[in-house]
Amino acid sequence: DRIISAELKGNDRQVDRAIRPQLLAEYIGQPVVREQMEIFIQAARQREEPLDHTLIFGPPGLGKTTLANIIANEMETEVKTTSGPVLERAGDLAALLTNLNEGDILFIDEIHRLSPAIEEVLYPAMEDYQLDIMIGEGPAARSIKIELPPFTLVGATTRAGLLTSPLRDRFGIVQRLEFYDVKSLTTIVARSANKMGVELDDSGSYEVARRSRGTPRIANRLLRRVRDVAQVEGVSVVGQTVAQRALDMLSVDSQGFDHLDRRMLLTMIEKFDGRPVGLDSVSAALGEDKDTIEDVIEPFLIQQGFIIRTPRGRQVTKRAYKHFNYQLPSDFK
Ligand code: ADP
Repeated sequence: DRIISAELKGNDRQVDRAIRPQLLAEYIGQPVVREQMEIFIQAARQREEPLDHTLIFGPPGLGKTTLANIIANEMETEVKTTSGPVLERAGDLAALLTNLNEGDILFIDEIHRLSPAIEEVLYPAMEDYQLDIMIGEGPAARSIKIELPPFTLVGATTRAGLLTSPLRDRFGIVQRLEFYDVKSLTTIVARSANKMGVELDDSGSYEVARRSRGTPRIANRLLRRVRDVAQVEGVSVVGQTVAQRALDMLSVDSQGFDHLDRRMLLTMIEKFDGRPVGLDSVSAALGEDKDTIEDVIEPFLIQQGFIIRTPRGRQVTKRAYKHFNYQLPSDFK
């Protein structure tokens, strides 16, 4: 179990509701996304039209759901939420679509996991606000068309590459979320601390931010554990030392790496001698499934320059050797 897993867990959901930004102005970091969305939303509102269908991609915990909800708030409409794996039959999607009001947002999380049959239903809905469904079976089967109110589909996915191209092409707006820099994360931590009633000084916020793997959800989770330590130790204002102690206790190192990150890097150094290695081999050596490696562990290690992808597989970099104080192999390329 990872304290720094970016997936939702424990009481993340309740805490989330209290500290999740509601408006674009409160959405910290991601300057490009924010600036573009401000313009697109304002333009759509001036034309009194729904916003174009919007695809948001980026690793877990970076603010995709938050952004979808912010879009609804800024457009002053309702958001209905579902996810790719939940939509099993065409009828499930049809029920959702026919329940939308004009201008509503339909948010589909993990949209890359829609079944092909459901995608087929989605295409005319996105393009012409029309539902084409088959009712009945055999010779009595017939197709009926239902007009839908104009709406906005907001899709979220961890990797844009997993989307089929016909689906991808139907989104007018595509936004890619980046890992947050420490400065933005420090602001997020300070803001969350304020909402949670924890007193944190600048060095405390910085320490939590720096170890959060560039991910707001992790920052908020680490903050809650720091709050526990502060509370039990009777510390009123959390500074760097208390934050550091709490995070060391959770085995989150100064890079924000946890045991899984370290295990992946060490496996690549020790078992594979720093040579390029395929996803299957890493997955087998770690006993972690490939999706977890590709969606959760690897993106941050790549972004931080500890792993690179080569045509022959992923490979650790010199930085990884340095981080663990390992000698580079003499034939290291
Ligand atoms: P995702 O859908 O990408 O997995 P979420 O939207 O659920 O991520 O974001 C996780 C949490 O991180 C949110 O509840 C929110 O509190 C926080 N968060 C995300 N993005 C931001 C941001 N830009 N500014 C402040 N807090 C954020």
